[in-house]
Amino acid sequence: MWNAPARKVTQTTRRRAGTTSAIIPSRRRADVRRRLLRWYDRHRRDLPWRRRVDDPYAQWVAEVMLQQTRVGTVAEYYERFLHRFPDVCALASARREDVLKYWEGLGYYKRALHLHQAARQLRHSDRTVPSTVVELRRMPGVGEYTAAAVASIAGGERVAAVDGNVARVIARLFGVEDDVLSPTGKARVCDLASQLLPAKRPGDFNQAWMDLGSAVCTPKSPECRRCPLRSVCRASATGQAESLPVRGDGRRSQTHEVSSVVGIFVRGRTMLASRRPEGGLWSGLWEFPNVEVKNRSAQARTLRRLAQQCEVALVSRSRRVGVVSHQLTHRLFKFHVYVVAAEPNGAPSQTAGLRWVSVQAFARLPVSTAHRRAFQTAQETISALMR
Ligand code: SF4
Repeated sequence: MWNAPARKVTQTTRRRAGTTSAIIPSRRRADVRRRLLRWYDRHRRDLPWRRRVDDPYAQWVAEVMLQQTRVGTVAEYYERFLHRFPDVCALASARREDVLKYWEGLGYYKRALHLHQAARQLRHSDRTVPSTVVELRRMPGVGEYTAAAVASIAGGERVAAVDGNVARVIARLFGVEDDVLSPTGKARVCDLASQLLPAKRPGDFNQAWMDLGSAVCTPKSPECRRCPLRSVCRASATGQAESLPVRGDGRRSQTHEVSSVVGIFVRGRTMLASRRPEGGLWSGLWEFPNVEVKNRSAQARTLRRLAQQCEVALVSRSRRVGVVSHQLTHRLFKFHVYVVAAEPNGAPSQTAGLRWVSVQAFARLPVSTAHRRAFQTAQETISALMR
């Protein structure tokens, strides 16, 4: 939890909250606000969602897309999504597969499902997207940061939106040496952010932190020389800019590798696609049947087992066409892709979530990036089998 609403902060309330950051003198607060907002007015990024700052729906969609995703990637998706679903009614009326299709490639698909679910709840109760933190927090998929960002930008609510990016800048600015992921470090950073937040233009102020963290006070090699806060920055004065913030999140923790066999079973001019179960990773997306494999030598055996699970008989020699790697935060997926002709085993398959689809129909389904790449890797071999 990063966020804390702006409030009148006294030394007593701070002690009660377990933080020990000092009250920032009013002149320093005013100085930081003035410098940061002036810089923002000159250097703000031109982002599509900033053309609709008064629209809570537009801000909500943007903030949900921006969770775990880079601004450059989001911009393209955002415009297409808003064009297809221009308001909460359009989103609520859409089929879930349609929403997933417009999210395809953006990852963390649960976010799209939460947007859709929330839109339907709002329509059901005949409401629009709210613009206060309290109401936003009741919506599925809206955490503290997202609620604070939307409420401050679209609703003008005085609440600090503090994510890891903002925390980095504030930790450097005040020389916070606590681990910014520890409860004490988080509380201290949020306290400082709340104290600094102005009553006027809180949304712009929150966005100014974000832009400064992205363009100037970057994780590596911050550009202090062109920073508007340099003359009041503790880390810059003490030479700690590159060593702060302190993070004890085990970022160097090992990546766990997961290997899977992917079976592209071809029958006539169709391929077998399977739909992922609800919840969990890639929830509700379509993919090729696949199963985890522990060791490389077991891949052929695993493919036969996969065919049995899908109730198909293999009717040609399988061809291994390549490996598709896909990195998530702490997991590296390796998909070993096989193509083989197959026929339903006896009676038509009753296995839930399986469907024979043409290449064209597969293109229309919402599919994870990894399996879209698996298809591209196997395309020539699939075409040859379909001839
Ligand atoms: Fe970050 Fe340097 Fe600016 Fe301080 S002076 S806020 S370390 S870029």
